[in-house]
Amino acid sequence: MANFSKRLETNVEGNFFVDSTCIDCDTCRQLAPATFIEEGDYFAVFHQPESAKEEFAAYQALIACPVGSIGTVKKNSTVFSKAQNSFPLPIEEGVFYVGFNSEKSFGANSYFIQHPEGNWLIDSPRYLKQLVQAFEKQGGLQYIFLSHQDDVAEAARYAKAFGATRIIHRADASAMPDAERIIEGKDAVQVKPEFVCLPVPGHTAGSMALLYNNRFLFSGDHLWWDRDLQQLGTPENLVWDDAQLEQSVRKLLHHSFEWVLPGHGERIHLPHRDMKNAVNQLIQRRWNLKHPRV
Ligand code: SF4
Repeated sequence: MANFSKRLETNVEGNFFVDSTCIDCDTCRQLAPATFIEEGDYFAVFHQPESAKEEFAAYQALIACPVGSIGTVKKNSTVFSKAQNSFPLPIEEGVFYVGFNSEKSFGANSYFIQHPEGNWLIDSPRYLKQLVQAFEKQGGLQYIFLSHQDDVAEAARYAKAFGATRIIHRADASAMPDAERIIEGKDAVQVKPEFVCLPVPGHTAGSMALLYNNRFLFSGDHLWWDRDLQQLGTPENLVWDDAQLEQSVRKLLHHSFEWVLPGHGERIHLPHRDMKNAVNQLIQRRWNLKHPRV
């Protein structure tokens, strides 16, 4: 619950505010870009919602915030309730953004795939009755894909509730030692006909992306859309091994996808050809310009 006495001075006056417990995770900006912006090490309200649409999005951000840093001076209970019940949010073709980001994964996004042969959860949100019921309504969870060691959050509790198979890479398995399925090595592993686990070591030794239906790449902390550059981004600082990271990004050129759905940062949808160009541009910017090949 946000605390008005800790309200950041960077907020504009008005109903919504961010307090000093913000962990700078970016979730609110993704959900309500008309209201929230990064100001130094925190986020803040730079523009109070004016329309019903903006107010709804601001309440969605308030609910998704992993640490309860967003508050209102006067809560509109009707809109709050509608916003709460709007999660998981549909993206496309049975793919959803779950919401209720967990502090345990530093506010990483998690996703849900509704599939006739068993549903998937990608990384873990907070463990909440509302989400358990929402997943139950859709037929439960068969698989929980864990992109890397930092984003497992409450995966064990969801696995127990649904008897789901947790999938994690051997190199990051210490974060979920009793996971039911361990992926080894660097080769792609087809778990089900439309589901391919792609080991992408770099950010961590056991980072993986999940490629679904040759359209959706659930990229964990390996890849995201950089809204400032309007290009794909990959870790610059929190890197376990930069040479492996480069190989892992280059490996994506051999796969076809239209969506990048990251743990942190913006998602992006581009036609296949444009996505491939965007991966090439990232490689050029991040490695070729720094270490030109002769
Ligand atoms: S969602 Fe919450 S913790 Fe994350 S940046 Fe916004 S205010 Fe901060």
